[in-house]
Amino acid sequence: MTTSSGRTAAIIGAGQTGVTAALGLLDNGFDVTVYSDRDQDALRDAVPATGTALIFGEAQRAEESLGLNTYLATAPLSTGQSVRVVDDGAEAIAFDAWFDGARGIAVDTRLKADDRLTLFRRRGGHFVVETVDPVRLDAIAAKADLTLVATGRGGLSALFPVDPARTVYDKPQRSLLAFSVTGLGHGPDVFAHRSTAGGQHEAYSAVSGQGETFWGPYLHKDAGPSWAFLGWALPGSDWERRFAGVTDAASALQVTTGLHRDYIDWDLPEVNQLRVIDEDPHSWLTGAVTQLVRRGVGHTANGHPVAALGDTAISYDPIAGQGAQGGLVQAAALVHRAAAHDGPFDIAWLTAAFEDFYDHRGRAAQLVTQLFLSDPDFAEIGGLFFAAASGSPRFAGKLFGLLDDPRRFDSVTSEEAAKALITEFAGEPADEVLARFEPAGGFERSRLLSPAA
Ligand SMILES: Cc1cc2nc3c(=O)[nH]c(=O)nc-3n(C[C@H](O)[C@H](O)[C@H](O)COP(=O)(O)OP(=O)(O)OC[C@H]3O[C@@H](n4cnc5c(N)ncnc54)[C@H](O)[C@@H]3O)c2cc1C
Repeated sequence: MTTSSGRTAAIIGAGQTGVTAALGLLDNGFDVTVYSDRDQDALRDAVPATGTALIFGEAQRAEESLGLNTYLATAPLSTGQSVRVVDDGAEAIAFDAWFDGARGIAVDTRLKADDRLTLFRRRGGHFVVETVDPVRLDAIAAKADLTLVATGRGGLSALFPVDPARTVYDKPQRSLLAFSVTGLGHGPDVFAHRSTAGGQHEAYSAVSGQGETFWGPYLHKDAGPSWAFLGWALPGSDWERRFAGVTDAASALQVTTGLHRDYIDWDLPEVNQLRVIDEDPHSWLTGAVTQLVRRGVGHTANGHPVAALGDTAISYDPIAGQGAQGGLVQAAALVHRAAAHDGPFDIAWLTAAFEDFYDHRGRAAQLVTQLFLSDPDFAEIGGLFFAAASGSPRFAGKLFGLLDDPRRFDSVTSEEAAKALITEFAGEPADEVLARFEPAGGFERSRLLSPAA
């Protein structure tokens, strides 16, 4: 696999996207240098995970195509997602979706990046601890044949202007709270009130006027199999006020427990069993993401071309889990393309690579995220989809397949198109599916007993 091509690559940023590309290029004969503002120990233990990074089939296949560990053998997997929606105080929608052919897996981004960085260094990759600024980037790009910037949403992303034609939002749509916890298994007894799959299904709740919550199986770098929580709070909501009070892992769990007591009590027994991960003071984060698309290619002061990768190129609100997936797909595609290319990695080549990625995934991934954010442009379609998912398990499974491969949503720009997709996914006419919809009228509550009971 490692034949020397005599070509050099520089990658700025050692998050999971950067190191995935670095290892892939190294294994394809490039002489690769990774520049990171933190040393390897700090990348693993001194920062929070960038996000939950739940990924599905296409992103897993992208990792496999580079010969990388997908953690499918060691992480707790999810086979579906149960959904509950409270609308104007009424327990309105409940369904349990089984993913159609894909398995969800969420691995601590710090663990994944650390494992890949270890392999990268062992196989002869160069790792330089240095905060790269635009001046330094110019010097780096002058020497490397291929320079990729994977510094996340901040970092050097400003080198790549926001593309207004591809960007819908100018501010975050939600405030976020994310953390990982231990103390709860993944057996059939857990979340049994939501799904016969128990702890193998993710648990999603939406409360109108407040926001959304997600629990999902997670592989934490220290605690191993555990659970990840994600909360989205609407601007000005009570949830937003509560999230703002989080200052550490303990208060994250405390705030979330209170939120379940007051708004999502059907899952409270599960939440009551959760414990903070003592070894990891960085098991939590709060913040907000403005979903945007940047120009995928830029150049340094002296005109050397550089390409944006992962969050540096496109950032997403995490509600549809597209960021890590997109970064991995983009990284793998770029590696394969570079390995097969003989000429220079000039602006034209880098632009073609980015445009192909945007067409293949980026655009649709943005749209699916807007759908799950209940963007006013998609609110009616979202309502139809959730109603159809309640009436058709087959549709429900394929609806969540959009998180894996969002492209089928690309053409859904009207109610008619939404109904056509329902018909196709459900395998029966949309109107018949929708006619079966009945409001949930009261969710089943958890009867999970505490271990001591
Ligand atoms: C709350 C939350 C939940 C999420 N959930 C999901 C999900 O379920 N599924 C999914 O697919 N995606 C999800 N995402 C998105 C996903 O986590 C990110 O898209 C992904 O981890 C980004 O990886 P990255 O390598 O591109 O960037 P980062 O992880 O941000 O890595 C960038 C690295 O570059 C370094 N750096 C920055 N500036 C410099 C510099 N000047 N010089 C050198 N190094 C620098 C940083 O320190 C960092 O190590 C979520 C995001 C959030 C916020």
